[in-house]
Amino acid sequence: MNIRDTEIIAQTLAESGYIESPSIEKAHLVVLNTCSIRAKAEQKVFSLLGSLRKAKKRNPALKICVAGCVAQQEGQKIIKRMPHVDLVIGTQHIYNLPTLLRQSSKHSNIAINLSDTYEIPRFVPRLSTADAQAGSPAPPLDMQFSRFVTIMQGCNNFCTYCVVPYTRGREVSRNVKDIIEEIRKSVDSGVCEITLLGQNVNSYGQSNSVMTNGLPCSFSMLLRQVAQVDGLKRLRFTTSHPKDLSDELISCFAEIDNLCPQFHLPVQSGSDAVLRRMNRKYTTTDYRRKVEKLLNARQDLALTTDIIVGFPGETEQDFQQTIDLLEDIRYHGSFSFKYSDRPGIKASHLDGKIEEHVKGERLQIFQKRQDEISLERNKEYIGKSLLILVESVNYNKLAGRTATNHIVHAGLSPSQVIRPGEFVNVLITSAGNHSLKADLLP
Ligand code: SF4
Repeated sequence: MNIRDTEIIAQTLAESGYIESPSIEKAHLVVLNTCSIRAKAEQKVFSLLGSLRKAKKRNPALKICVAGCVAQQEGQKIIKRMPHVDLVIGTQHIYNLPTLLRQSSKHSNIAINLSDTYEIPRFVPRLSTADAQAGSPAPPLDMQFSRFVTIMQGCNNFCTYCVVPYTRGREVSRNVKDIIEEIRKSVDSGVCEITLLGQNVNSYGQSNSVMTNGLPCSFSMLLRQVAQVDGLKRLRFTTSHPKDLSDELISCFAEIDNLCPQFHLPVQSGSDAVLRRMNRKYTTTDYRRKVEKLLNARQDLALTTDIIVGFPGETEQDFQQTIDLLEDIRYHGSFSFKYSDRPGIKASHLDGKIEEHVKGERLQIFQKRQDEISLERNKEYIGKSLLILVESVNYNKLAGRTATNHIVHAGLSPSQVIRPGEFVNVLITSAGNHSLKADLLP
């Protein structure tokens, strides 16, 4: 979501006449788009702001703006701690950044609010050369063949460990027409892969009753409409909440050809007691049942997840249940983290905090086993011929992605000319934990 928001910031600035600077030293404006999901990401923001103090001393005309979730969460405190910051803008203000920059002054340096009636503004990407020539310069876009498209933002779920409902506000879905227009325009400009984005895409349309063809529009209905955009080769989405994963959505995996066989379904813990304290509103039995249905709908589906270890009150037995779930489902990959207290979240008031070294040990155990399983799962692809979308070409090597979202590296002979954005067939020859190696097929 932050990558997409940063692209939007870049485009709105470009449309107001800003040009991307090759370095901070030469810049007149630095925007830090921040993440506060974990303490470490937030610490990085303050450390970077500290080093920007010197840049501002060298160039007093430099404007520094902090945007995103840390800005939303900390507001005025950022300016108190870092007085060289000129502007702090919350998550619902990224589309107005040029105006806010014009209006900002010593006495008006903050734009933070979360409105319940917020509407995601209409936004059409400027991607083509024609656009860039007709108007202001296009923002820097290094992967124009693959794009994120925001379909909703905010969250109503209030998982007890998560700051998102406090930093992004309540769930708001974009209307279908705007989404389709953005995707069609992207595809017309050469994009062949779209990833639909939202904190909880499975509840798309519910909170502000989005309609399509006179009917309430569910996520699966949106997915079917997007899949029909002419020229769209690959469709993905993220992120899903298990409690809102419907049979209707599962059936899309059996029926929509360009929907990629990849599903990120965050489970967070294998213990029902921990899931209750996290306020996740599903049990491991519900979760396992949905995974089974998904795999029945699409056997080649690559499943990934998120795991938090060391949540308050997590016993050795709870942690073992997370390992048991990993052994049963055998995820292709996972993102795993140690629980950390965040400002304002309910879990920071829960009893039974786990010592840092215990969290560290549990994380290591989980990640070691996941790495072994990822390697075993990746080896299953050896000898298979797969279609990859090329993402980068460097001298005699290329890297691309399979429909299942695996990264593939392959060698190139000097006579082979392949460009990023092309689809090529490869034969998988070896596997590592995080990527595959392949030979190009004629
Ligand atoms: S559903 Fe996701 S974004 Fe919403 S509160 Fe839970 S973890 Fe955070």
